[in-house]
Amino acid sequence: MRFFDRQTDRELREKRALHHDLRFAVERDELRLVYQPLVRSDRSVVGFEVLARWRHPVQGEVSPGKFIPLAEDGGLIFSMGAWILREACREAATWSEPLVVSVNLSPIQVKQGAELVDLVRSTLQQTGLDPRRLELEITETGLAGDRSRTTSTLAELKSLGVRIAVDDFGTGYSSLSRLKDFPLDKIKIDRSFTAGIHLNPHSSSIAQSIITLGHALGLTVLAEGVETEQQLAILTNESCDQMQGYLLGRPMPIEHYAPLVRPEALDSPLAGAV
Ligand code: C2E
Ligand code: CA
Ligand code: CA
Repeated sequence: MRFFDRQTDRELREKRALHHDLRFAVERDELRLVYQPLVRSDRSVVGFEVLARWRHPVQGEVSPGKFIPLAEDGGLIFSMGAWILREACREAATWSEPLVVSVNLSPIQVKQGAELVDLVRSTLQQTGLDPRRLELEITETGLAGDRSRTTSTLAELKSLGVRIAVDDFGTGYSSLSRLKDFPLDKIKIDRSFTAGIHLNPHSSSIAQSIITLGHALGLTVLAEGVETEQQLAILTNESCDQMQGYLLGRPMPIEHYAPLVRPEALDSPLAGAV
């Protein structure tokens, strides 16, 4: 037996309506991608993480935290995920700088196995993007489940030449043996640890241990959610390889980062003339 009050009822209705609208979001051109820089400790840019945005005609901007789970619920995530991947690779292939583009995969996409591998392969072929420039972010949830199946999916993806990053590391079920067995390239320390790094000795110890563990396994380690100079200094001191966060650059339409992806456009004598 379940009890519904008015609030639950309204929320359910709202969710159903949003789910309905989401089905048409791609065709109506309401989805777009924003790009957030991934930087080294000297602040040089390695590449960008791609984050989806939905501009709802009535509700305005709906956060991915809200619409990605909705897309996962109804299986819409497959077509939407394919669009996001294609759009991100197509964009990155136009850059003159060979920067990395990092795309989030839903655990449901990872569970697809061979179909996901086919999607990534055909997207790389169609867009002409060098596979070494594509990074795929998978959360710990995406790595849970059938171990041998996940291992072979990851191995096949890697054989295409792309890199695999574990997203939100430390928040889920982080089995260390999985880290050892899976063919991974990078760990992204969840921003909840970065947030407390200068205040809470536990957060700081956890971040330090993840960095040490990652390096021992030969992985690149990135810290998410860097918002202050103090956090950046601590992480740099702890030999964290890469960082990401509002301090280093907000998620923005790619035009905002044009000087980074096409620096020659600025040097050209015609720059500013058009
Ligand atoms: P995520 O993959 O952990 O992405 C990072 C989130 O942290 C983004 O939120 C970003 O805007 C936010 N962020 C970045 N720097 C900072 C910072 O310094 N401080 C704070 N407080 N937040 C920061 P966003 O864009 O709302 O995305 C939320 C989540 O939605 C993502 O978390 C990811 O799990 C999911 N998501 C976004 N785009 C996609 C997508 O294209 N496909 C899939 N499957 N999931 C996506
Ligand atoms: Ca991510
Ligand atoms: Ca993350």
